[in-house]
Amino acid sequence: MHVLANDDRSMLGDMNASEFHKYGHHVIDWITNYLTHVEEQPVFPRLMPGDVVRSMPRHAPGQAESMETILSDIYRLIVPNLTQWNSAGFMGYFSSTASAPCILAEMLESTFNVSRMLWRTAPAATELELVVVNWFRELMGLPENMFGMLHHNSAVLHALVAAREAIPCMHAAREGLAGRPEIPRLRLYMSAEAHSSVEKAAIVLGIGLQGIRKISTDSILRMDVNELEKAIEEDIRDGYLPFAVVATVGSTSTTSIDPVPQIVRVCEHYGLWLHVDAAYAGPAAMLPEKRWVLAGCEHADSFSVNPHKWLFTSLGCSILYTRHPKLLKSALSLTPDYLQDTAHGEDEVLNLMDYDFSLPHRFPALKLWVVMRYFGREGLIARITEHCRLAQLLLTKVETTPEFECLAPVPLSVVCFRAHPRGIDNEDSLEALNKQIMARINDAGNYFLSHTRIHGKYTLRVALNNIHTMEQHIHSLWEELRAAYHIEYGLWQRKGSGTRPGSMHMLTLPSRQIEGEKKEFV
Ligand SMILES: *Cc1c(COP(=O)(O)O)cnc(C)c1O
Repeated sequence: MHVLANDDRSMLGDMNASEFHKYGHHVIDWITNYLTHVEEQPVFPRLMPGDVVRSMPRHAPGQAESMETILSDIYRLIVPNLTQWNSAGFMGYFSSTASAPCILAEMLESTFNVSRMLWRTAPAATELELVVVNWFRELMGLPENMFGMLHHNSAVLHALVAAREAIPCMHAAREGLAGRPEIPRLRLYMSAEAHSSVEKAAIVLGIGLQGIRKISTDSILRMDVNELEKAIEEDIRDGYLPFAVVATVGSTSTTSIDPVPQIVRVCEHYGLWLHVDAAYAGPAAMLPEKRWVLAGCEHADSFSVNPHKWLFTSLGCSILYTRHPKLLKSALSLTPDYLQDTAHGEDEVLNLMDYDFSLPHRFPALKLWVVMRYFGREGLIARITEHCRLAQLLLTKVETTPEFECLAPVPLSVVCFRAHPRGIDNEDSLEALNKQIMARINDAGNYFLSHTRIHGKYTLRVALNNIHTMEQHIHSLWEELRAAYHIEYGLWQRKGSGTRPGSMHMLTLPSRQIEGEKKEFV
C-alpha cells in the first residue's frame, strides 16, 4: 500500500507520487530563489487594506485546480502582499526569523503530522521535546530541577495556571473563582513594561485586568522593587490575595531587565509565585558575558523563553520551564476514556497533554533540535554576539550624531532612539517629526521599523535579531535615517516653526527596484 497513489488523477486519495515529487522540487527551488532575493522586495508591501480580499474569488472552487494555478496565485497574490519578515531590513517588533534548517525541519514536521498528546501518539516527539528543552536549559545556565516543555505560544498562560493552582485551598481549576465569597480577590504583579500576554492570561484565568497591579519602573524601565513591596503590603491590608509576580527579562519595548534577585527575595518573603518572562532575551544567557541577564532566575517558580524570537526558529516555539510540574498537571490533566493508555501505567510514561491546554499539539521539538544541531552552541552564540555588536554599532552612530538621541540603554540587540534637533523641545513636534521619519523609512521599502513610547516619548526602535541582518544593513539604514531626518526637518523649517513638522511626505526616498512576480516561475 502506498500513501501517494501512483498515477491516475481521477482516482480518490491524495496527490500522486510523481506530482508530489515534481511540485516538491519546484517549491524548494522557489523557496531558495525567494530567500536569495527577498531583499529586493519592499519589506512592507505596497497595498491598501482590503486589496487581498478583492483579489480573491468570492466562492471556494467547485472543481479541482491544478497545482500550477495554485502556486502561481501564491506567488502573484500572496507573496508580494506579505510583510517580508525574512528580509534583512525587517527590524520591527522582534524580528523572528525562520532559518533555512528550520524551514526544512518544518516541512518534515508537517509531513509526520503527529500530535504529541500522549506518549503513544508520538513517542519520539514527546521524548525529543524533553531532550531539546534540557539542552537549551543547560545552555542558558538554568538548573536541572526545571521541567521544561514546548508550547506554540502563551507559555505565560500555562505558568499562571500553575501559579493559581499553587494558592493553598483554592482549587481554582476544579472549583472556579466565581461565586465563592470565601475567596478574596487575587492580585498579580507585573511592571508597566511587561508584555500584554500577561494581561491576556489574567483575562482568561478569571483574575481579570483589575486583578493586575502594574508596578512602576525606574529611570531605565526596570521594576521598582520598593514599589512592589509597598503594593503587596497595601493590597494585603485591603483584603486582596497577592499570589504571583511576573518579572520581565528583556522587555518588549526596550529590553529592560527587571532586578530578578531582589524580586526573588520579595516573592520568598510573601510566598508569591515568581514567573520570569525572558521571551526574547533568554538565548542571550548562552553568552558568558551576557549570562548576568538571568541572574536570580534559577530561583523562579517558572520561566519562559521563545526560541522563535532569537533562536532562528519559526513562529510557534515557546518553552515553559517550571520547578513545579505537578501543579501544572493537577490543574490541566483530564483524560477522557478514549485517551487512556491502557498499555502503560500513569507513572510509566509522560503524556505531555497532561501539562497543556491544547490537546492536538504539533512537533516543534523537531525544528528546535535541527536548529540547535545545525548551528551548534558556538554558531548560535556567534550570531547572537554579532546582533549585540550591531546594536552597539547603531548606538554609537546615534550617540555621535547631535541631531539624534538614544532613549534607553542597549543591553542586548534593540536600540531605542529618536531625532531631536537642537531648538525643538516641544514633545508634540518631536513626535510628529519622528513619525514622519519612520513613515519615510517604511515607505521606501528597504527597512521596516516599529516604534515604542518611553517615558511618554515617541521612540524609534530597531530590533536586531534577524538572522539575515549584517553590518552593511546598519550603515545603509543609518544613511536612510539621516536622509529622512534632513528632508523632514527641512520641511518643518520651511513651514516655519510653530507648525508641526512635515505633515506630508511625498518626496519618498529612492527605493530599490521591485522585481515583483515576473521573476517567479511555474
Ligand atoms: C513576544 C513576547 C511575549 C509573547 O510570548 P508568546 O509566547 O508569543 O505568547 C511575551 N513576553 C515578552 C517579553 C515578549 O517580548
